[in-house]
Amino acid sequence: MFALNLVGNMSVTSATMDKVTFDVKRVRADFPILSRKIGKNPLTYLDNGASSQKPSIVIETIASYYRDHHANIHRGVHRLSEEATTAYEKSREQVARFLNAKEARECVFTRNTTESINLVASSWGAANLREGDEIVLSEMEHHANIVPWQLIAERTGAVIRVVPVTPEGTLRMDVFHALLSPKTRLVAITHVSNSLGTINPVREIIDAAHKAGALVLLDGAQSSAHFPIDVQALDADFFVFSSHKVCGPTGMGILYGKADILNAMPPYQSGGDMIRVVDFAGTTFREIPERFEAGTPHIAGAIALGVALDYVKALQPGAHAHEQELLRYATERLSAIPGLRIIGTAPEKVSVISFLLGSVHPLDVGTMLDADGIAVRTGHHCTMPLMKALGITGTVRASFAFYNTLEEVNRLAASLEQIRKMF
Ligand code: PMP
Repeated sequence: MFALNLVGNMSVTSATMDKVTFDVKRVRADFPILSRKIGKNPLTYLDNGASSQKPSIVIETIASYYRDHHANIHRGVHRLSEEATTAYEKSREQVARFLNAKEARECVFTRNTTESINLVASSWGAANLREGDEIVLSEMEHHANIVPWQLIAERTGAVIRVVPVTPEGTLRMDVFHALLSPKTRLVAITHVSNSLGTINPVREIIDAAHKAGALVLLDGAQSSAHFPIDVQALDADFFVFSSHKVCGPTGMGILYGKADILNAMPPYQSGGDMIRVVDFAGTTFREIPERFEAGTPHIAGAIALGVALDYVKALQPGAHAHEQELLRYATERLSAIPGLRIIGTAPEKVSVISFLLGSVHPLDVGTMLDADGIAVRTGHHCTMPLMKALGITGTVRASFAFYNTLEEVNRLAASLEQIRKMF
């Protein structure tokens, strides 16, 4: 089906398509799961913020790797080990291209966004934070970008400062600027809110943080799937994201960090592959990225991630334009439903709509949508402080990917109309 060559170039079905016109029907054909039925209904998958579906080329890459190429990397002199190592390192270059990183070694393979943030908090945090230093977070952070900082703050005596959100779901930038001071060592902010879809003004945040002498970690878990990322143009010090939200396999994540910053950080986990010399008199460590990749990694996952990122990148800018059309149309359709309140109305959003339907519990809405084959997420979306700030306990979240259609928006709206009538 695909000309799979793990070491050389791959032919990507949709990658060769016209960059501006976006043929959603053709793209959907790349995703086998999208032709599934849920009961009698076609699957309407609107839970992409939690995890995206996978194109055949990613699924086939994993199968092909285990079928024809598997061996442990970086260790063997034999052919299979060389092939696996070459494919693994090629993926790092694909990640670097996806992020427009200056060098591939600035891209560290981790398990997910959560592990990438824990790595920075444990390693950079322990080495750099002192009593009274400040870490600036926002009220809209995912728990993964809150709890690791709380733990390292407890260990070091650092203090967490929080940027509040407006009722529309944007950051209070006046407060952000006022919070910055010579005590600020790090600003850790989400690029895009997973609960609301808000795109944050990260250029402004990074410029201001750098002027105050602080580093910036961008949580790119939600931005990386929706529009092209350029870490050099952003001047981000760290950028983290998860493979599984960008059409790649689960169990893979990326930590991008500027080379000089990563190189000055102590190891996070230790063991094989990350050492130079081990001696009971003292052990020395390898340079980046290996210093942060202890033990046998998820080789198949890394290779498939590279393929996924090339696939997604090749769909731009058409994919983003299509998603913005889905957002516009879904906002229009859902706003017209009596009693439906959209939570998060920032002017700049990705294709995510959180909402409440009258006084119907989000869990009930989600369960009834599922009966129509529509997959959404309900609850606090791992952003309990944000829910508290907005005075709610949770929402229903429909999150769209480039393979969703206007017809699926119609299905969602029709199903919500039915639920409204029932209640
Ligand atoms: N940050 C944000 C903004 C997210 O949306 C998510 C996933 N919902 C995470 C972090 C954590 O990602 P993972 O579970 O893949 O580590």
